[in-house]
Amino acid sequence: MSSDRYISTRGGGEGCDFAQVLLQGLAPDGGLYVPEELPHYDAAALQSMRGLGYGELAARLLRPFVGDALGKDRLGEIVAESYAAFRHPAVTPLVQLGPNHWVLELFHGPTLAFKDVALQLLGRLLDAVLLERGQPIVVLGATSGDTGSAAIAACRHVRMAQVVMLHPEGRIAQLQRRQMTTQVGDNVHNIALQGDFDDCQRIVKSCFREQSFLPPGWQLVAVNSINWARIMAQTVYYFFAVLSLGALGYPCRFSIPTGNFGNAYAAYLAGRMGLPMEKPLLAVNSNDVLHRYLHSGRYGSPGVTPTLAPSMDIRLPSNFERLLFDLYQRDAAQLRRAVKLFGTEDQPLGDGAWQRARQIFDSASVDDEGICAAIQDLAKSASYVLDPHSAVAWEAARRQGDGDGITVILATAHPGKFPELAQRTGCAPPPAALLEELSGREERCLQLPAEEAGVRAHLEKICRNGV
Ligand SMILES: *Cc1c(COP(=O)(O)O)cnc(C)c1O
Repeated sequence: MSSDRYISTRGGGEGCDFAQVLLQGLAPDGGLYVPEELPHYDAAALQSMRGLGYGELAARLLRPFVGDALGKDRLGEIVAESYAAFRHPAVTPLVQLGPNHWVLELFHGPTLAFKDVALQLLGRLLDAVLLERGQPIVVLGATSGDTGSAAIAACRHVRMAQVVMLHPEGRIAQLQRRQMTTQVGDNVHNIALQGDFDDCQRIVKSCFREQSFLPPGWQLVAVNSINWARIMAQTVYYFFAVLSLGALGYPCRFSIPTGNFGNAYAAYLAGRMGLPMEKPLLAVNSNDVLHRYLHSGRYGSPGVTPTLAPSMDIRLPSNFERLLFDLYQRDAAQLRRAVKLFGTEDQPLGDGAWQRARQIFDSASVDDEGICAAIQDLAKSASYVLDPHSAVAWEAARRQGDGDGITVILATAHPGKFPELAQRTGCAPPPAALLEELSGREERCLQLPAEEAGVRAHLEKICRNGV
């Protein structure tokens, strides 16, 4: 058993090493990769991490998961480069907003969203692994908003990769489109598909299913939120926050805006790795499948409701499978039976699992009205403007009341990314030079009909000519 060997939650196949897990994303049996075993840090080990910079801390915490997959000392360099790309010297600074309330700002990366924290690292890890193997890839994804620009920003320096991002033409916010289409790089290819987001996803999925249209030797890679490398990178800022606050012996509660459950699952892992913390609070918007599960023991969702916090509009959070695997005490057969039934009907997942889940997390659901009220309250009381996702976490924590210790709200996007909401709430976000520069830049994007054959042909051309 070791932390750099990975197994699938569905029990199929052999154990994998870090490089395989990085390139594959999803396991061949449809499951998600988790390490055979987690590293554990006792009080003395945690004390010894105090005073480390973000990059040094990340290198220390991630080394056991990466093992020998990279050359000696490469991990340290890669991590340092990844976080040097952030515009704040602390990388993820803490801002105090009340006697016992802090905001952990995760949005100082190149696209002003917390996805950068994991993706900047993932891109550089890919670069190292692909160069060593001489393996060319296409990073392919569909986006309706935020993830696309963070993925492009992460992969445009990956030397063996072409990055292709599909979005539905005319159906994403102007700012988000510009964040993607103005990124320069010979290997960056934005495609505006003449269809809706479901068309984009359908076509991407079909390309992954049948990859023989690619030239020999090429492979498609997804950098979506089920990739283990993203999860492991997200465990770091929990350690960073507790260490920075001097809260090793003091109860610290995180309120986590949750969509696909990556961020929240990382908090759970940090706890299992020995980081002292109170029960983390899962903060969801009106798409509340996790909240209802914790309350009722039943899991399912009728559909997605669009909210003011769109990056959390998720029907069934994919990373939940990783937690469920542990809730079932790593019984892959039981997990396979449960996921087969995942869907619209509220499904019981077993009383044992439910009781364990309730010991791990608290939860709260905040609707659009609550989001606006929270933004306005905090703008008034502390002159601090939250983005809508972080507002969900703030409001969830407020409703739960103060505990005995510190509350840390995770802030996942810069509020300047949501200009329409600023108009609605009357709360102007602080200026962000990065966003203001966008409107002057040239946009590069290709329009294509929403047809699989055309997209495939274009991908093939990109591999052959790099255009
Ligand atoms: C992706 C995202 C979230 C949700 O994170 P998960 O890991 O999917 O739970 C929250 N806020 C913002 C701004 C995001 O982009």
